Amino acid sequence: MKFNILIISQLLVARSFAFLAAPASRTQSALYSSYASSSTQRRSDTFSDSELETAFFSIDVDSKGSIPRSAFGEAIADLGVDLSQVQLDLLFSKYDADKGGSIDLDEFKAMMSDPVLAGVTPQRDVKFAMDLFKRYDADNSGTIDKGEFRNIAREIQLDARRRSLFSVAAAAVGATVVADYSQEYQFSQKKFRSLYIEPKAEEAQKIAFPTAMLSSDMDEAIARTLYKRGFTPKNTIFAHSVCSDEVNNAPEQLLPLMVKRWEEGFSLGGLAGVPFSGKSGFQAYLHHVPDGGKLLIMFAPHVGIDAAGKIGALQRDGQVKVSSACGAAVGAYKVLQTNPSVASIPDVEDAPESFDPQLESIVKMLKPRLSGIEKAVDPITFVTYQLYAIIRDKICDCVSQTPELWEYTNEIALVGGIMINRHVGGDFFQPLSFESRTKDETGVKRTDLYQDAFGQTANLSNVLGSEDAVACLYNKK
Ligand SMILES: [Zn+2]
Repeated sequence: MKFNILIISQLLVARSFAFLAAPASRTQSALYSSYASSSTQRRSDTFSDSELETAFFSIDVDSKGSIPRSAFGEAIADLGVDLSQVQLDLLFSKYDADKGGSIDLDEFKAMMSDPVLAGVTPQRDVKFAMDLFKRYDADNSGTIDKGEFRNIAREIQLDARRRSLFSVAAAAVGATVVADYSQEYQFSQKKFRSLYIEPKAEEAQKIAFPTAMLSSDMDEAIARTLYKRGFTPKNTIFAHSVCSDEVNNAPEQLLPLMVKRWEEGFSLGGLAGVPFSGKSGFQAYLHHVPDGGKLLIMFAPHVGIDAAGKIGALQRDGQVKVSSACGAAVGAYKVLQTNPSVASIPDVEDAPESFDPQLESIVKMLKPRLSGIEKAVDPITFVTYQLYAIIRDKICDCVSQTPELWEYTNEIALVGGIMINRHVGGDFFQPLSFESRTKDETGVKRTDLYQDAFGQTANLSNVLGSEDAVACLYNKK
């Protein structure tokens, strides 16, 4: 899952306790300050005084200055500490000095410094996120529906002062709901993404992929345009040429969205999105079209952007380290940097132990396309755009070099661009081309659908470093 709760909640740590402190009553706040200023207790290595006080007073809601044994477990859990009932009882008995069945703040703080708790790492952010989820899951269904989201949105708009508080709530809720991919997810993604995006990644994306769209918007724009031309899931067979990397199959990615919409998907692509299934793959796809039906091909290389705004890098779920995306594209570029003479790369037949036919081909196709890379905004961005052009040329070759195509179909639509993998905030797509080809007695007719679907084309001269590179990208030279 792209937005699992653990990852999103890491974003919340800094602000999370502000939320717990916020609903405090006036009396409680006064008490809080007096305790905070007079506190001379030993400090736990893992909890600050204010964290301990906040946990204490979130239980001591009547400001009695003590919490009973029955509520003690909850205060500990609020700190994200998971203890068994036996451990809780032992701790409580040890620090309930007057054996009165309750402990005051000083006793509570002393207890949290007990050696028994040494090395305990509080999972406070997870606990916090779950609290927020419960708060907004009004009907206790265990999922958040659109109505419940609307309530949060309304609260954000009504009370600007509490906006930061609710931004935390939105992130937590967005994180939780995505576990069950649905329309609600898309709603939350749009409504709240500005509150939990990675600003540096966002900035880098705006520069390198200036008119990128959220994948769900892309899927809708393609469908809207094609429905007008009579494409339906029943009469259309969808094919895609995208990299084998599993990040392209994340639930909110364009590929699964389109496979779902068009009800199937023929895979033409291999590493980096190059249509390695070749002419045979294209023929097979063609032969599967419904009678009198239509073809739709989406093709794209992909590129990650990490939290620091680095293009070509991606933090993957379950991994702390950042890895390459697209690994094949970055790998091919590195080969060319260290070994510019492609001729020295052994062919598969000559060196079976280094079997790597797809990467070998990518290196060879990329080599002639790297001139001018030094003028580009960033080398991996440039490489990614070149891969788009390589894939597009191969797909167009398959189409134009297969004359029997028109015995099987009366229309083929081709949509291409760059998939942008992001760790949080949803994946994007930079559209670069969208056209339809039909055939009648006069020949093959090409109709540009780009503007109708996506609006103005992106100005890429700064990104690619020259008008020449742009013309080359669009094959206008
Ligand atoms: Zn890849």
